[in-house]
Amino acid sequence: MSFHSLGLSPALARAAADLAFDQPTPIQAEAVPVILRGADLLARAQTGSGKTAAFALPLLQAFEISPDQGPRRVQALVLAPTRELAAQIGETLRSLARHLARAPRIAVVFGGASINPQMMRLRGGADIVVATPGRLLDLVDHNALRLAEVRTLVLDEADRLLDLGFADELGRVLALLPARRQNLLFSATYGGAVQALAERLLHEPVQVTI
Ligand code: AMP
Repeated sequence: MSFHSLGLSPALARAAADLAFDQPTPIQAEAVPVILRGADLLARAQTGSGKTAAFALPLLQAFEISPDQGPRRVQALVLAPTRELAAQIGETLRSLARHLARAPRIAVVFGGASINPQMMRLRGGADIVVATPGRLLDLVDHNALRLAEVRTLVLDEADRLLDLGFADELGRVLALLPARRQNLLFSATYGGAVQALAERLLHEPVQVTI
């Protein structure tokens, strides 16, 4: 199986090859076609499964198909529990975007670092924002970004987001997003709290368990 056969563009397949991804991992093979057709996804997958590229590749493809020439608005929002994970997701997105004709602007924002450079960065416009929930809300409160045009929401490591006490922040973020959007939830475990979040968030999701 190849990345191309999953429906990904030559530029994205080439970027995967640059990273020595010879063929899709199981989570990529299952999740990429689902995400590309716009469905909601509930993915149970561990770190190390290749889950980051499983959502990063289809997110990036959306920018290739409809290059938006207008002002940059946040169209994809990825929430992660920790700054380390957010930074790692940002790096994966940037590496996989390297051959796109018009690379989307990717902003990574997290707590524990000074907010001003992040505000400056967002003022220049961002297409994709990767964030920890608390800092994202601080930035919204500072009018540094708007989430009203987000088309795809990704919750990565949803179980850890809940374990770290981000349920209230998630609720606030969800209230800022348009009702019509694609939702992708990735979690290593699937306990009661994640299940409740999935039921609240996902619309007729495709379920993938690796
Ligand atoms: P993740 O589960 O997203 O944290 O990814 C785990 C590791 O697998 C990362 O170092 C990726 O660079 C690597 N990886 C992701 N997809 C592939 C692939 N298709 N082939 C080989 N390595 C991969």
